[in-house]
Amino acid sequence: MTTTITTLHVDDTGPLADAIVDTLVHRIGKDAANARPHDWLAATILTVRNDIIERWMASTREAHAAGAKRVYYLSLEFLIGRLLRDALSNLGVMAQVAGALQSLGVDLTALEEIEPDAALGNGGLGRLAACFMESLASLDLPAYGYGIRYVNGMFRQRIDDGWQVELPETWLSHGNPWEFERRESAYFVGFGGEVIGTETGAVHWKPAEAVEAIAVDTPVVGWRGKRVNTLRLWTAQAIDPIRLDRFNAGDYTGALAGQLAAETLVRVLYPSDSSPAGQELRLRQEYFFSSASLQDIVRRHIQYFHDIRTLPDKAAIQLNDTHPAVSVAELMRLLVDHHDLGFEEAWEITRRTFGYTNHTLLPEALESWPLHLFERLLPRHMQLIYAINAKLLREARAVEGMDDRAIAAISLIDEGGERRVRMANLAFAGSHSVNGVAALHTELMKKTVFADLHRLYPTRINNKTNGITPRRWLQQCNPQLTALIREAIGPGFQDDAEKLIALTEFAQDANFRERFLSIKRSNKVGLANYLRESSGLRVDPDALFDVQIKRIHEYKRQLLNIIETVALYDQIRSHPERDWTPRVKLFAGKAASSYHNAKLVIKLANDVARRINSDPSVGHLLKVGFIPNYNVSLAEKIIPAADLSEQISTAGMEASGTGNMKFALNGALTIGTLDGANVEIKEHVGDEHIVIFGLTADEVAEKRRDGYDPRAVIEGSPELRQAVSAIASGVFSPDDPGRYAGLMGGLYDGDWFMVAADFDAYAAAQRSVDARWQDQAGWATSAIHNVAKVGWFSSDRTIRQYAEEIWNVM
Ligand SMILES: *Cc1c(COP(=O)(O)O)cnc(C)c1O
Repeated sequence: MTTTITTLHVDDTGPLADAIVDTLVHRIGKDAANARPHDWLAATILTVRNDIIERWMASTREAHAAGAKRVYYLSLEFLIGRLLRDALSNLGVMAQVAGALQSLGVDLTALEEIEPDAALGNGGLGRLAACFMESLASLDLPAYGYGIRYVNGMFRQRIDDGWQVELPETWLSHGNPWEFERRESAYFVGFGGEVIGTETGAVHWKPAEAVEAIAVDTPVVGWRGKRVNTLRLWTAQAIDPIRLDRFNAGDYTGALAGQLAAETLVRVLYPSDSSPAGQELRLRQEYFFSSASLQDIVRRHIQYFHDIRTLPDKAAIQLNDTHPAVSVAELMRLLVDHHDLGFEEAWEITRRTFGYTNHTLLPEALESWPLHLFERLLPRHMQLIYAINAKLLREARAVEGMDDRAIAAISLIDEGGERRVRMANLAFAGSHSVNGVAALHTELMKKTVFADLHRLYPTRINNKTNGITPRRWLQQCNPQLTALIREAIGPGFQDDAEKLIALTEFAQDANFRERFLSIKRSNKVGLANYLRESSGLRVDPDALFDVQIKRIHEYKRQLLNIIETVALYDQIRSHPERDWTPRVKLFAGKAASSYHNAKLVIKLANDVARRINSDPSVGHLLKVGFIPNYNVSLAEKIIPAADLSEQISTAGMEASGTGNMKFALNGALTIGTLDGANVEIKEHVGDEHIVIFGLTADEVAEKRRDGYDPRAVIEGSPELRQAVSAIASGVFSPDDPGRYAGLMGGLYDGDWFMVAADFDAYAAAQRSVDARWQDQAGWATSAIHNVAKVGWFSSDRTIRQYAEEIWNVM
């Protein structure tokens, strides 16, 4: 038997060092003298991988032998980030590998830092999928994630003169030692063409074009290495990679056109979480990955269980938002056209198999496709959707009191204006469970977007409040705090995050508080060093680190924070004698490339930073930084160093948020609105350990309904008026004084996101934060309460609820 890493002791790393060098020589083709850091990284990953592969195969064999039901998580995004530290930590071999590398003169931390960030997602939705995959493996549940292996993923953000510039993310440029291409798992995916009736009365779809989907697998290691699951991402290949007839005729471009089209399909993730990209390419991507995944799931089911009718007993398919919603029609097509089931039986199987998770109430983000486009690309699916719709509307009409308006709202086809296929309604109709991602969001789903569907199927909507994996978001990103907690309450919390509650009593322990604060300070020094080295920004680690990092979107209200920063700047200059709390305001986040206002907010943050940071009259009292290229590994550096977590979305608009949970787990206090999961975080940490301000979701709705006069609000608030007019008149943009006139004008006429309405409450809340900061012991007490009481927000808890209440696998 070969030596596996996990059987080695920390002080016996010789064999492991030998194994790494052996891999370096025989797999990478370098010797230790000539190896570059990327060679060492690849050799280390490949060596660790050997250990993972054996567990992986054992996990698959075990699930098969037990005839286990499998969970399939379909998501167009998996924001997994780096994998090496995650794998080493979950396998419990961090010290061994670090020791082995050290004996070879190589620093593990330096290797970790050069691993590319797998940025196959936009933000929260993609990161949730990654946390879920880790928790599924940690809870020993057999599961597959299905998505797309984007060659460039999400764009890399550079800031040039304060403006966002989008560059391709070349995360695969050094190859990817984690992945396995599975040539044997390949499927044809068709587009276009026509539907032909056969003599037997059956129907046959004859696509005009097709590509081949090829599986690329990445192992997902659970906590303590118990189970290794599979993240299966699809890549595309032309069926005829080269048309030799054309090539020989001198048409080189035409000869390779098929391959180019296939590669285009898997090239980029559309960087938009607020509106459907609208591109035909996006619909093609959605169908491509849905079809390949469904074909794979059905093939595996038949191989193991031989009877398609038992699919719902052996497979639970979860749709992460509507991006994979076409899967509902695809499964119907496979069941009816390929497995010869009747429509009714196929529909029953489909509904019992799927669950759908909704992530947004923003009307512009509810996907719908022009009917003519859908019909042209997917003619057979269009027929099936018509049939499903006929059945759905029949059921709706049978319900007492359903009027024409309600029927029109339930329909899978939007008939107002250009006819469109509504993907959320398809996902809802085709699933036995429809869940929201925080309690407030779920209640709003019932009242707003799905009010009529909810009346039709009143037991279908349920809540599953999001969570985060405490392995990545505490143990790996904050090892010092983890060690302190282990020393205080023992290691039990590492297997059950809710055991963190035992920390509560230490909130009153002066010695513990000191040590807690000194770890926070050490993390802040680390971040300060990073800021200095990466951007030249110098900040004082003893200042309050006030952090807003998330996608840039008007509803998340970075603008509220920036305007308040400007107001604070004014105040400090007008009253230098006051006892101001020194603050470092940090921002990071990407804006969708077509989102004009969001990009302007980035520029504004940078303009404000430039002005304030170079003004000696505020000195160390206020510094502002915009950190470029927000991604998972940057979040892992920033969050452990944060004192204050900005969660200030317009109430009713953030479905859950997960950034809020990561900060609280690392001992930051939240300043936030009663939105998304903030509501539940408040319930867990207690009112006195969180700073809540502003309008509630009901109040926002009421203001929007009854009319709201932002001009009067702005005129009535001297601080706000002064800040807005300074920004509008070009104080921060002397090179282009009119740059922000439109952005500020938007506050006067309309202010949909209620920035003005919440400003005074927000500014007052910030001053109460200043006052709290003066009492460091009190601050530490609150911070410790946060860590102690947010164990419930572990994605293990979330996944257990999905497993018990939706998937029936526990
Ligand atoms: C957690 C996370 C998010 C989600 O943040 P929110 O504040 O909930 O919007 C987005 N991006 C990255 C990289 C994350 O780690």
